Amino acid sequence: MKIDGRCHCGFIAYEAEVDPAAVFICHCTDCQVLSGTVFRWAVPVPEASFKLLAGKPKTYVKTAESGKTNHQLFCPECASPLYSTSIGAEPRVFNLRLGTARQRAELQPKSEYWCRSAQDWVAVHQIAGRFETQ
Ligand SMILES: [Zn+2]
Ligand SMILES: [Zn+2]
Repeated sequence: MKIDGRCHCGFIAYEAEVDPAAVFICHCTDCQVLSGTVFRWAVPVPEASFKLLAGKPKTYVKTAESGKTNHQLFCPECASPLYSTSIGAEPRVFNLRLGTARQRAELQPKSEYWCRSAQDWVAVHQIAGRFETQ
């Protein structure tokens, strides 16, 4: 499915080809902190299926408890989260943050990860798969 999106201020614009069946949410504590809310909503996109149309995102290098690092990209002007990507691994996969996608109403999550750190008042309906961790 072809989607397109932009950050809140419009500095960044993109288009991507995504698989709606791969849409997920993540309840891990890093996603809570980095998103400023209860979970992250995203879809994996191979780098070749993602096209930046405008702007240049800023990068924050996140180090996980495991020692692994990844890039968290966001708009340098309005701070809208855009995507994350692993460092070094080729071909890379971007986890595109779907709050910026124009077609977001059609992108319901099919799985939930890190449910063990989910806030207990959060109820997401019509979810196919729930996982305690990854
Ligand atoms: Zn922006
Ligand atoms: Zn997470």
